[in-house]
Parts: sequence; structure tokens; C-alpha cells
Amino acid sequence: MFHFIFSSLDNFVSTLQTLLYVDIVQPVLFKVGLMDYDEDTYDALYWVIVGVLEVIVMYALLRPLEALRPAEEWEHRKGVRVDVLYTWIVKLGILNLFFFFTFQPVFDSLQGWLRLHNVSNLEIDNLWPGVTTQPLVAFAIYLVVLDFAGYWYHRLEHRIGIWWELHAVHHSQQQMSLWSDDRNHLLDDILQASFFAAVALVIGVEPSQFVVLVAITNLMQSVQHANIRLNYGWLGERLLVGPAFHRRHHAIGYGHEGTKYGCNFGVLFPWWDMLFRSVSWSREIEPTGIRDQIAAPGERAVNYGEGFFEQHWLAFKRIGARLSARRTTGRGNSDTDAAAV
Ligand SMILES: [Zn+2]
Ligand SMILES: [Zn+2]
Repeated sequence: MFHFIFSSLDNFVSTLQTLLYVDIVQPVLFKVGLMDYDEDTYDALYWVIVGVLEVIVMYALLRPLEALRPAEEWEHRKGVRVDVLYTWIVKLGILNLFFFFTFQPVFDSLQGWLRLHNVSNLEIDNLWPGVTTQPLVAFAIYLVVLDFAGYWYHRLEHRIGIWWELHAVHHSQQQMSLWSDDRNHLLDDILQASFFAAVALVIGVEPSQFVVLVAITNLMQSVQHANIRLNYGWLGERLLVGPAFHRRHHAIGYGHEGTKYGCNFGVLFPWWDMLFRSVSWSREIEPTGIRDQIAAPGERAVNYGEGFFEQHWLAFKRIGARLSARRTTGRGNSDTDAAAV
């Protein structure tokens, strides 16, 4: 059954890939004299189609729900536009897959080296031959392991100042919608893609499974960001991260600042938040964003940028400010030390 769904989807995408390639892409490549990139372009087209299908499915499922049951009523959707741009850049760039395949040769040689030196590598699906080797069981294990890694990755993004400045691009959205999941600093995207590709390869995920893991995670995350008044019920929200749970993570004063420097970091499953005590089950709908975007009396609000480039540039500027502040404090300390001596 599982295999059947995979292969039917794969067949469907492959058929589209061949059709588009023969009728559109190849004639263009031929015309502009780029036939050397023939094979690579053909392969890349597969992932572009997967990305486009993801966006279509996401939009068709979530946009009507946003219209019918919005969590927040907006006068306009201006703030959403930039997130649409992020989504197309990420979904068509398919960074995760790019890194996965770039890493493959490196890891292949690493695995070869380990085998040569008789060091066994981490093949999680071989933990219990006969049981964990079943495709569905292995897939579930990969999903849980990657999600555990995702929880800590996300928690550290909030903990480490410089990293937070990159992640702040994601959190600075005050109109959270189905498009907001991909609103991330591109440098953060690259870091994240490298990290997950490395974890996936170390635990032995096959490339074809990785594609499905990424697609499922992406779709679930789009649901979590959608402007929908929806909770999965007492049990449901303890099994899977939903919109109410993730909206809490984006809530000003809670998600980034609440107990233990934020709450609800979970990506797919809320279990790690429950285990490491960073969970909040409140379904109260609060404004989303970062506290300093709203000016405190006598202070100026921080501008995180409205457009794609401004948001990227301002993040680097904030990182620069943090680094120079650290250098100044460091120098200050050594001055004090010197004075003390
Ligand atoms: Zn976050
Ligand atoms: Zn988010």
C-alpha cells in the first residue's frame, strides 16, 4: 500500500517531467546552446515539479479554510505578499534536495572509509532486522529522529543571539498565513538544509524517502502557519503540532520569551516540548511578531524590513551590531581586568 502510493506519485511526476522536458525545456536549451546541461536540467525538473505540486496542494487545501475560519481578521493581506515570494524561491530552489545530493558523494566516501576500518555506521533501519527494516516502520523512525533533531535545532535558533537574528526574519511576520513557513533568511535555509541532509544521511535515509519526508514536513508546517482557527482537540494536539500550537510559538511575549526562553518549538510532534518542559497548551489567540516591533513608551520600534532584500540585509546588520557590541564589552572587560591588576 505504502509502496503503491509512492510509486504512483513517482510515476505521475516522472510522466509530467518527460512531457515538460521534451515539449518545452529541451527545445529552449537547444536554442540557447545549453545542451551540455541536458541531463542535470532533466533531473532538476523532477524536483521543480514536486515543489509546484506542493504549493498547489497547499493552496487548494488551506486558502478556503483561511477564508472560512480565520484566526485573525485582516483588512488587507499586504504583509502576506513577501511570504509568497519566499515560498516560490524555496519550493523551486528545493534547497534540501540540492544539499542532500551534494552531500551524498561526501557521505558515500565517509561510509566507505568507516567500512574499510571496520567501524559500523549508524543504520537505524537495521536496529531490529525484520521489524525496523519494514519500509513503513523505517520511515516512521526516520520521521521521529529527524523531528527530534528539528526540535533542538529550532530551540538553539532562539537561544543563540546571532542565530536568532536570522530566525527573527521568520518571526517578524505579523500576518501569519499559509505562506509563512518558508519565510526564512536564505542563510538560515542553507544551514538548516545542510543540517537535516547530514542527519538524514548519517541515519541511512534513502534519497527517495528523504523527498517524501521533506514533502510531508513542509505540508504539515504550512498547515501550522495558516491563518485558521483550528485546534486538533485535547488528544490530537498532543500527537501532532497544529495551527493553535504553532501560533502560540509566534505569539508576542510567549513563543520567544515565555518560560525558558520560549515555548512550542516542536516541528511535527509536540512530544519534545512535553518532555523538555517547553510546552504551552494555551489556545488564546495573541498578536504574532517580535516584542520590539511594537514601540514601548519612549522607545523606537525595531524595523525588521518589509521586502525580501531589506529583511535579509537588516538581519546581517543586527548580527554585525551584536558582534561589535560583544567586541566592545570584551574590550571593556579586559580594560577593567587591567585596571584591577
Ligand atoms: Zn521559532
Ligand atoms: Zn513558524
